[in-house]
Amino acid sequence: MFKPLLKVAAIASLVLMASSPTFAADDKKVYKFKLAHTWPTKFPIFGDAIHSMADTAKKMSNGRIQIKIDSKNKHKAPLGIFDMVKAGQYDMGHSGSYYWKGKVPNTLFFTSMPFGMTAVEQYAWFYHGGGMELMDKVYAPHNLLSFPGGNTGNQMGGWFQKEIKSIDDLKGLKMRIPGFAGEVMAKVGAKPTNIPAGELYTALEKGTIDALEWVGPSLDLRMGFHKIAPYYYTGWHEPGSELQFLFNKKKWDGLPEDIKEILRVSMRNAAYDMYVHSYHESAKNWASMKKDFPKIEVKSFPSEVLQALKDANDELIAERAKSDPLAKEIIESQAEYLNKARAWTKISDQSYYETMEKLK
Ligand code: CA
Repeated sequence: MFKPLLKVAAIASLVLMASSPTFAADDKKVYKFKLAHTWPTKFPIFGDAIHSMADTAKKMSNGRIQIKIDSKNKHKAPLGIFDMVKAGQYDMGHSGSYYWKGKVPNTLFFTSMPFGMTAVEQYAWFYHGGGMELMDKVYAPHNLLSFPGGNTGNQMGGWFQKEIKSIDDLKGLKMRIPGFAGEVMAKVGAKPTNIPAGELYTALEKGTIDALEWVGPSLDLRMGFHKIAPYYYTGWHEPGSELQFLFNKKKWDGLPEDIKEILRVSMRNAAYDMYVHSYHESAKNWASMKKDFPKIEVKSFPSEVLQALKDANDELIAERAKSDPLAKEIIESQAEYLNKARAWTKISDQSYYETMEKLK
């Protein structure tokens, strides 16, 4: 976190020291950007991250960076961000990389993968383990740059009307579960669907679907699912979902270095802040859910079910690696990094949690 800030400070002092008239002229130039995002107006947490990025960039640039933010209520194309930023209709976007898997399959890998890295492991991969370079490889041919845009933390497995005791209980189960996890569920016999957020509560209440996953207490509380479904399953499918800031590459390439660095730092700061904000909201909302609905039963799928899901996941991943060399490169990079990072997670965080559990 601190390295880029120091860089900005260094650049800022160079700007002060420079007597070049170019610097003086640039110093007053205002850079205006238009940003489109996938979410509704005033959407909590995600929206806060976007506005905090724009505010930070404005303050750090002493007003030279001005970002106008349009929600989906304005541009009406929540899943059109990729195309709009690519075409230059908008300079910037905020969305989720896995939404573009139908367009550019390799975008799938940069949100969260089932049985993959947690938020902190994935941040380490992005910034220090080659993740950013691979994301550039996927996005640059589309005149786009993608930056981490905020993490939801580990997502809950979802709300279920019936307990899942064996793999047979997943057969024919109608569940809202998007992305690659949906493909995994389909492979074990479930019927994944994707229903718009506004219709989810009614669909679960009326039995149109038997189960759904959304995020976790941070955003589930306001949806009210805990009032109509008794079982809250722990997660396996989105261990650390990272949103994204998109930037039109041509526009980015034409910016001066100081403006680029302020934008980079503002995005990185907003992303990390969304991660801790999500953590805070989940902790707070989980306490209030438990208080108001003490009968919520938190469950984990039996090991046999999780193993079947993991086997299905591994098969699907292997198929992708076979079909595309860049997919193979990303899959191998993530697998190798996960192995290395998890060995450390085990003797650090995991061991600490286990130790604490045994104490009074
Ligand atoms: Ca989710």
